[in-house]
Amino acid sequence: MTYQMIINGNAVSGAAGTFAVINPADKSVLADCPKASLAQVDEAVAAAKAAFPAWSALSIDERRQKLLALADALEAKAPEFMQLLTKEQGKPLKGFADMGAGFEFGGTLAWMRATAAMDLPVETIQDNEVARIEVHRKPLGVVGSITPWNYPLLIAVWHVIPALLTGNTVVIKPSENTPLTTLKFVELANTILPAGVFNVVTGAGDIGAAISNHQDISKIVFTGSTPTGKRIMECAAGNLKRLTLELGGNDAAIVLPDADLAAIVPKIFATAFINNGQTCAALKRLYVHEAIHDQLCAALTEMAVAMKTGNGMDEGVDFGPLQNQEQFNIVKELVEDAKAHRGNVLCGGEVIDDSGYYYPITLISNVANGMRVVDEEQFGPVLPIIKFSDVEDAIRWANNNDNGLGGSVWSSDSEKAQAIASRLECGSAWINHHAMVQPDAPFGGVKGSGFGVEFGEAGLKEFTSIQTVHIYP
Ligand code: NDP
Repeated sequence: MTYQMIINGNAVSGAAGTFAVINPADKSVLADCPKASLAQVDEAVAAAKAAFPAWSALSIDERRQKLLALADALEAKAPEFMQLLTKEQGKPLKGFADMGAGFEFGGTLAWMRATAAMDLPVETIQDNEVARIEVHRKPLGVVGSITPWNYPLLIAVWHVIPALLTGNTVVIKPSENTPLTTLKFVELANTILPAGVFNVVTGAGDIGAAISNHQDISKIVFTGSTPTGKRIMECAAGNLKRLTLELGGNDAAIVLPDADLAAIVPKIFATAFINNGQTCAALKRLYVHEAIHDQLCAALTEMAVAMKTGNGMDEGVDFGPLQNQEQFNIVKELVEDAKAHRGNVLCGGEVIDDSGYYYPITLISNVANGMRVVDEEQFGPVLPIIKFSDVEDAIRWANNNDNGLGGSVWSSDSEKAQAIASRLECGSAWINHHAMVQPDAPFGGVKGSGFGVEFGEAGLKEFTSIQTVHIYP
């Protein structure tokens, strides 16, 4: 299969050549991907700028119909997209609890349709004999979307569909690790959308900065690491770009002694290891009361050792490889550091098979804040389990982290759990669950996890500016 960028409705090769996309299951070259030149970034932005007046002049209903048609067209290509997703990202087609490529693809369609159905009606804040005052929402212009490698298709849709629905045009730059599904998605979109409305450029090293520095881009929506988010913020200052920055998370969960173990163990396991832990809002630090600590460790270990990690294209595989060499190295390094500091590896903790980026589901107890595996986002199949006796300590430890994406409290007493959750410094708090997101509920971080929200009306508004209209008789 050949892959091309789409600029102004045309399929084009990379003027700077190509780069290799690696299949994480066997480290082979999966495809050669176009490498954009900086001139091509300019062309893509110029195309998006030129397409903006006509696209933004359409009614929201007209744009909605096109986005719904795109969802239908994508659904018709389900097998092709799911297989490509598995090959470039590594996640199994089905996987543990059906949370593999099918889950990402299904979520992509669900988000497209739910987001496309939304509206931003004019708000009237005064209507009397003195004046009528209305608040209108206007699109911003060209939006730059920079997407990560953990959910390449789903996160592209999280960025792009609200931007397009509200009348913006888009230039997307996927991660160089997983550009292929995005290239195919934009190609498909361009059979439905007018030329220039949705463009894609691929490359590595200089393309992201060219986008965040570009004077004709009005907003950047970025999902990725905190250091890169900070760099984007610096670049964006030149023309005061608006930003939505969904950065890393190191989500804490606090398990109280009255939690119903049988009910919570499968949920804790699933939300810690969703997408092999490569999920921004996965449960990444587990604080457990001493009364149930050993039992919970034993129950999680029993689940973990039954899991099969392998090539995501094979039947019966629960978890695939990590997506890339860098992430594999981080995970390995954090586990080795925990071992060196007397962490108790309950299961996993050794590389399984070097033919791909395979790392087993790993549980580590006897760890504490101040150890790297607890303080740093592992973004992989590793869960540190920290024992506490006083819940005040657990709250303090949970908050003693630079990140603030999500957090959870697990208890049979929902009121007590909510009171604790309200003290967690994070953008989403769950009681007896974790990592649950849906298209109509705002999602975003605080502290080092970024700012701005995605999803729901609040997420849609982030792609607009306000025009307040004062009408006097
Ligand atoms: P990064 O967060 O570093 O993001 C890389 C992307 O950002 C590339 O597309 C790159 O483009 C672009 N970029 C770099 N500099 C700029 C800039 N100044 N302006 C605009 N874009 C820029 O990703 P990594 O893959 O290195 O992941 C690192 C860590 O991030 C992981 O270990 C994990 O902890 C976390 N992560 C978090 C995710 C989440 O969901 N929140 C998802 C994935 C990773 P270019 O190469 O052209 O510069």
